[in-house]
Amino acid sequence: MASVAHVIEEELHRWDREIVWHAFSQMAEYDGLIVESAQGSWLTLVDGKKLLDGVSSLWCNVHGHRHPTIDAAIRDQLDQVAHVTSLGLSHPTTIRLAKRLTELAPIGLNHVFFSSDGSSAVEVALKLAFQYWRQCEVPEPERSLFLAVGSAYHGDTIGSVSVGGISRFHAMFAPLLFHVRHGPMPDTFRRPIDVPDDELGEFYLSEYEAILAEEGTRIAAIIAEPIVQGAAGMVVHPKGFLSGLRRLADEYGTMLIVDEIATGMGRTGRMFACDWEQVAPDLMCLGKGLSGGYLPIAATLANDRIWNAFLGEYAHSKSFFHGHTYGGNPLAAAAALGCLKVFEEERTLEQLPDKISRLGQVLEPLRNHPKVGHVRQVGLMAAIELVQDRRTNAPYPWSERRGVRACQVAIQHGVWLRPLGNVMVIMPPLNISDEDIELIGQAVKAGVDAATS
Ligand code: PMP
Repeated sequence: MASVAHVIEEELHRWDREIVWHAFSQMAEYDGLIVESAQGSWLTLVDGKKLLDGVSSLWCNVHGHRHPTIDAAIRDQLDQVAHVTSLGLSHPTTIRLAKRLTELAPIGLNHVFFSSDGSSAVEVALKLAFQYWRQCEVPEPERSLFLAVGSAYHGDTIGSVSVGGISRFHAMFAPLLFHVRHGPMPDTFRRPIDVPDDELGEFYLSEYEAILAEEGTRIAAIIAEPIVQGAAGMVVHPKGFLSGLRRLADEYGTMLIVDEIATGMGRTGRMFACDWEQVAPDLMCLGKGLSGGYLPIAATLANDRIWNAFLGEYAHSKSFFHGHTYGGNPLAAAAALGCLKVFEEERTLEQLPDKISRLGQVLEPLRNHPKVGHVRQVGLMAAIELVQDRRTNAPYPWSERRGVRACQVAIQHGVWLRPLGNVMVIMPPLNISDEDIELIGQAVKAGVDAATS
């Protein structure tokens, strides 16, 4: 006879398949895992099985699950108040978080607008840039066009999809989107073969410059994921591309929005990817790891130039008429402050170089695999791209689900991974142990072998 626990588990799985509508999932065939609890880098499923969280619960768990410092920060906050609206009220925890972010962020980003998810942080950045040109000291209302970088992913709301460029996700909604100029993907893997490495950045930048020149004074802002384009398949930009965009934005009198939602919070080895090239954007979006992967909170940071354009007499209606009910929620802000405290107490960024090179070492043998076209890594963001043919780098048709199959095998080997098409993504918590990095290497190898044989 089936045990009570087993019956309950079966029922949960059935409800999960029939009632819960999962993100980015085909519900006709859905049969996902159910996590009951977690500790550090490890998830425990309802059937007791343990899996290593190889993608940090979709790129956001920074210091592992149930970190005592973040847990305590949330509990302490609960003893004060869980929620305070940001419409006319405030709370010390939220204020402290804003102050701390301005201290850590690239220079000049002195103001913080909170929201609850990355897509909203991007919407806020777009709307702030748009409104800025209508009410800055010398208005340029013709600047209403955005220039997006490559096949970007900035979220799933209509504005963030408009500046996105991943056709499999976004093409369906084309009639709903506003017009955006999309520049080429500054890819260091799928790239023109006749351009040497050290000229690749300038090569792509010249194409961006051509668009800026052609559009004249119509560009409100350039928006970019810095250094690594996440959902596009962990595409790595050439060195100098980000700082080149900053230079072009200045030369053409426009602004730069940087979306650090995936790359921020230590993921690339520095606190922010912008720090690698000393870039200070006009607007910067944070989300995902901001709360250590605990609670939904996102932020759009702005410089004084933008902030000042929104100041004025009440009757002039220069305010930013935008807000989210839970924006700046103190419980989520407490988690974020807890996350930043762990960075300090555990010197997370100083520990990272060892972990980054360890991950590089375990993935190294895959570079020679006959069906691996590319192994790329920036910090603790890594990707293995499966190809049909290494000479041409011809991709497998996405409908063959090679990446999914590889990840299913990795799961059988104890590591939870979620692919992007033919790309296996590896993004463990920043404090992952060396032993667990080894396990990732073994599981990825087993997955690649099985999915390509
Ligand atoms: N920007 C980037 C670069 C992202 O990777 C994501 C999420 N994957 C988003 C924006 C959207 O964030 P959210 O899912 O929290 O809306």
